[in-house]
Amino acid sequence: MRARGGEEMVLGALEAGGTKMACAVGDETGKILDRMTIPTDLPSVTVPRMAAYFGEHGVAALGIGCFGPLELREHSPRYGYITSTPKSGWRDYDIVGAFSGALRCPIGFDTDVNAAVLGEVAFGQARGMDCAVYVTVGTGIGAGIYIEGKLLHGMLHPEAGHVPVRRRKDDRYAGNCPYHRDCLEGLASGPAIEARWGEKAELLADRPEVWELEADYLAQALAGYILTLSPQIIILGGGVMRQEQLFPMIRQKTADLLGGYLQAEELRDMDRYIVPAGLRGDQGVMGCLELARRAYDAGCPEKKKKSIHL
Ligand code: ADP
Ligand code: ZN
Repeated sequence: MRARGGEEMVLGALEAGGTKMACAVGDETGKILDRMTIPTDLPSVTVPRMAAYFGEHGVAALGIGCFGPLELREHSPRYGYITSTPKSGWRDYDIVGAFSGALRCPIGFDTDVNAAVLGEVAFGQARGMDCAVYVTVGTGIGAGIYIEGKLLHGMLHPEAGHVPVRRRKDDRYAGNCPYHRDCLEGLASGPAIEARWGEKAELLADRPEVWELEADYLAQALAGYILTLSPQIIILGGGVMRQEQLFPMIRQKTADLLGGYLQAEELRDMDRYIVPAGLRGDQGVMGCLELARRAYDAGCPEKKKKSIHL
């Protein structure tokens, strides 16, 4: 694709996280040409550095996959804001406005997990599918949901990492979610594993009971997602999913929970239905490139927003 000026178009990608900001430039095929990662400091420090980076590369559009919660309703005067985060300086911050003001280009914006599922749909494991769920199991748990060709937002945006699960009777750990205590994230995130077993999750590889319990909780959530959203594939990523022994257990337990009720072609081969993330961990960044491409193609929604709401 060529930019309106005629030369090869460069797109910007920003995976905005609570601890680091992963910036990259690339093209519409998902190819990453350059990267820069900086720690997440206050916006007044971090945003000008990132804007300078994208400006130097002359990006034609920017895609932002962001930690939340976010305002994603395009008709809202606060569209493009990070809203109620406890992260210092970023609460009620107009991140889309900041970049569109600095770069004067279209900005695509969604949650970090929706960017990840979009990366997998555009370039990875879910290519060609129009219903996919991407679950990250790391410091937190979150799910990006792509349904019938669209990223799902709904009322706010899904927070599927916080679904309730049944705590196993032999599990003495109370859970660490500050809102729900023993929701999925409270019982199965990396920090929950560490708090329950007294050691970092990556050091527990040879303790089968750790992963058997972990698979139990994840399977409960996946069965819920499958029954509710009917995805064609579920992709699992994040640090905890580096424990590859989880996959066969999760597949088996999910199938057991579904109990043969759903007669779908996809569910006959669980090895291809519940799969590890592809793209060498770059689905977030690549999804941001795709968000940028879509924003570019859609013209300039940010300008439209400003003209409507000023
Ligand atoms: P984040 O969620 O912060 O973006 P990660 O997806 O890497 O980052 O998740 C970090 C969590 O994953 C930590 O709780 C860490 O203990 C856990 N983790 C990282 N690597 C592994 C591993 N190889 N096996 C199990 N758990 C891991
Ligand atoms: Zn919770």
